[in-house]
Amino acid sequence: MSTGIRLESGDLWWKNAVLYELDVETYMDSNADGVGDFRGLIERLDHLQSLGVTCLWMMPFFPTPGEDDGYDVADYYAVDPRYGTLGDFVAFIHAADERGIRVIIDLVVNHTSEEHPWFVDSRSAKDSKYRDWYVWSDEPVEEAEAIIFPGLQDRNWTQDSTTGQYYFHRFHNFQPDLNLANPAVREEIMQIMRFWLQLGVAGFRFDAAPFMIETVGVSGKPNEPHHEWLEEFCLFVKRRRGDAVLLGEANLPPHEIARFFGKGHELHLLFNFMQNGALMASVATGSAKPLHDYFAELPAVPELCGWVNFARLHDELNLDTLDEKMKQKVFEAFAPEEDMRIYGRGIRRRLAPIFEGDRKRLELLYSLTFSTPGMPMLYYGDEIGMGDNMTLDDRLPARTPMQWTDSETGGFSNGESFKLVRPVAGEPFGPKQVNVRLQQHDPDSLLHWMRRLVQVRRQSTAVGYGPVEVLETGYDDVLAHRFVWETNLVLVVHNLSDKSRNLNLCKLAGTDAEYLQVQLADPSSGPGDEIADKNVRIPGYGYRWISGFTRKTDAPLP
Ligand code: MG
Repeated sequence: MSTGIRLESGDLWWKNAVLYELDVETYMDSNADGVGDFRGLIERLDHLQSLGVTCLWMMPFFPTPGEDDGYDVADYYAVDPRYGTLGDFVAFIHAADERGIRVIIDLVVNHTSEEHPWFVDSRSAKDSKYRDWYVWSDEPVEEAEAIIFPGLQDRNWTQDSTTGQYYFHRFHNFQPDLNLANPAVREEIMQIMRFWLQLGVAGFRFDAAPFMIETVGVSGKPNEPHHEWLEEFCLFVKRRRGDAVLLGEANLPPHEIARFFGKGHELHLLFNFMQNGALMASVATGSAKPLHDYFAELPAVPELCGWVNFARLHDELNLDTLDEKMKQKVFEAFAPEEDMRIYGRGIRRRLAPIFEGDRKRLELLYSLTFSTPGMPMLYYGDEIGMGDNMTLDDRLPARTPMQWTDSETGGFSNGESFKLVRPVAGEPFGPKQVNVRLQQHDPDSLLHWMRRLVQVRRQSTAVGYGPVEVLETGYDDVLAHRFVWETNLVLVVHNLSDKSRNLNLCKLAGTDAEYLQVQLADPSSGPGDEIADKNVRIPGYGYRWISGFTRKTDAPLP
């Protein structure tokens, strides 16, 4: 749907941004206490600037009992003292801003920690001031249809001894759900957003967005999604900062998820779990079919909105969007041992260990991630092919300290390694073999390649703005697609098989294409004249990004 207004790139910066997810706790420790902090992060902003990322998503850094790695917040208006002060946070925002990097923060308001003063008050008596800020019932009236952490959690209602009533919790019982049906709660959420906007953040990532707007167990209210609350939040944020964005976590089927964009005035961005599932299925099976099916099912997106595409994020690598048969195929390929899997739906490992460090397939995976419609995201450490630590529980193996040097602590801290907030990744993808310093001095490193990929994606405005067209290649294992925005054209080709394939790239680019140039290619491809109108060999797992122009539609064809 077009508004008829010509869009300038600055208006919708997220269309052409590159996002980077990190946790301040595991990024860089400046005071040798073994815990990452904002002062440390400031020291590492030059790394992020040279990587070329334009926006950071910060995992929660608020005071917390830490029972769910910070997703159990005890105070929304403060920085956990282990990470620094509010002053340090503002210094960080200022330093990021100086480097042209925006910052989005996690807003976890589906639930609070049970230690949050609101809940402490709420559970104290039936007539307490904050009683209605949570969902209470004499009986567990209605079970939610799905348990979030099978194996770790077996119910959604827990009886509280003080009043004998039950409280609702979508997640663990130490994470009571806030009652957003209460307008006072929604007003407080807006206060929280106003506070952080005023400190300079460029938006929020809404944790568990579908659960925020449900009303399970709220007395007198049937359970149905209240999208008008998201509109309320969006309007509130946009009036205070015009370029701010709301990014939502909603792992739902295609026909349900697009509802969260609304008409462009609910969530601007949504994590693309469908793309991630299809990507893993295609790479695991060497077939372009899962990605072809994904493109065919991709719901329309309002002009102001977009997807966030990722190969990996901090949670398990979630395969819920795949059918059971395909899920098992991906498990067999990428997580052959039971311990590598979690909740029956995901993979605990990082990508470099999954692909045994195979550069060809890692490049293929990221090249695909960066060339599908939406904003690409990198998870910290993936720019160097960092490993995991499978001795850790739950989803923590992929949340180990960033690897800066080959020291025992990976250069993350000058403290003692046994005091680190989390142990470093194990070999062969631990700090000894894989670190930023080593790769900085090696022009053939993954880090240098990743910088190039980020640069090419940022230059390819058509990928951010243009509609996508999937092309017929004659091969089941080759994906070719084309974007056109105004007169800019980008053609991308990926060979998912291990065998070389011959393609006529000129033909794929279309009869309206001119001045075709290779922007990025796998290192094993030949240089030079490959854009000539003849078949070109694309090696196994090879890829090409080609940019060009299209003739104006009103110009006569020669
Ligand atoms: Mg520290």
